[in-house]
Amino acid sequence: MRVAVRKERRPGERRVALLPLHIEPLVKAGFDVVIESGAGLAALASDDAYVQAGASVVDRTALAEADVLLHVRPLEPDDIAGLRQGIVTIGFATPSAEPDGVRALRDAGVTSFAMELVPRISRAQSMDALTSQALVAGYRCVLEAAMRLPRFFPLFMTAAGTIPPAKALILGAGVAGLQAIATAKRLGAVVEAYDVRPASADEVKSMGATFIKLELEAIEGTGGYAREMTEDRAKKQQELLTPYITKSDVLITTAAVPGRPAPQLVTRQMLEGMAPGSVVVDLAAESGGNVEGSVPGAVLDVNGVQLVGMADASSTMPVDASRLYGKNVTELLKLLVKEEKLDINLDDEVVAGACLTHDGAIKHEPTRQQIE
Ligand code: NAD
Repeated sequence: MRVAVRKERRPGERRVALLPLHIEPLVKAGFDVVIESGAGLAALASDDAYVQAGASVVDRTALAEADVLLHVRPLEPDDIAGLRQGIVTIGFATPSAEPDGVRALRDAGVTSFAMELVPRISRAQSMDALTSQALVAGYRCVLEAAMRLPRFFPLFMTAAGTIPPAKALILGAGVAGLQAIATAKRLGAVVEAYDVRPASADEVKSMGATFIKLELEAIEGTGGYAREMTEDRAKKQQELLTPYITKSDVLITTAAVPGRPAPQLVTRQMLEGMAPGSVVVDLAAESGGNVEGSVPGAVLDVNGVQLVGMADASSTMPVDASRLYGKNVTELLKLLVKEEKLDINLDDEVVAGACLTHDGAIKHEPTRQQIE
């Protein structure tokens, strides 16, 4: 069975769906792996390295004939139109934000699996690309802040005097937020964190940070996720968070609500209360922004506060991000194959959960309702 890896085409994307290190186990398992020429270059994997690992290098036109096409970012409608009916695709699809892509997959008769739809259950942990990529992003956004902060993160006691540690505040303590906490702690900052989910308090504390408890009723949606809050409650939350934000040197925001634009946690007025030189990194900038006025990919000066709108956070570390992602897609691929043949078993909870389109239909019900 032929598995193809495409070269990512979106501007700023440097990851690749498989690295050479993922090839050998696939070849041993009987797969014929083909890589679009140049697919791994931005992640420091040359065509030669793939060939040495047992893959073949092909040009773009050969991808459409594969049995399975692996990708990172969503396929564009133009790419999908050229695929053969019945091909299986595995990669991110951002269905709620890219309905045209979903329609194109449905109309082309593609069996597509969206990495963001993989159920977050224990059995599917090794396929959970949302988690693996959020881990990279959470780490990276703290480094971004550390590089820009005009002072140290750690405490220094020297003959020339004592330098107090930086104060970092992390809003949103999901996968990315917890990794941001861990990274800021490793760098020596004093870290506080807040999340609407009370369950996150223990996780925050286990990372060595202080959990901020606001006098607000807790809101938790289904499946361990947050849900959207009312306007009044959002205002109250902003009011209560203000004193914590004002005293922070570094603010990292990672809050998200599945299928909804990112909640706005920080207004411009709140930013203006921070000391000049402070750094704010908005990891949610691409999905609406947790911070008023943040622009993905831009660093803005707001009264001396540096506001960083993170963009393509995971792809800024393409080597390890691809390493983790490649493992995620390989594990999902293995679930779709039996005795070296495709076997799409929609009775399997993970296969059914991750399936976006199949046999000319949209299988993910919320997306179907949104689109049809
Ligand atoms: P996410 O990216 O959807 O959201 C990030 C965080 O933002 C969440 O913790 C959320 O509660 C928080 N948030 C939303 N609105 C907020 C607001 N107004 N103020 C402050 N915080 C706000 O979430 P995620 O990182 O993908 O993880 C969400 C949940 O899924 C967590 O409970 C996590 O432990 C769980 N999870 C489970 C598995 C598994 O079982 N395999 C894997 C990964 C994550």
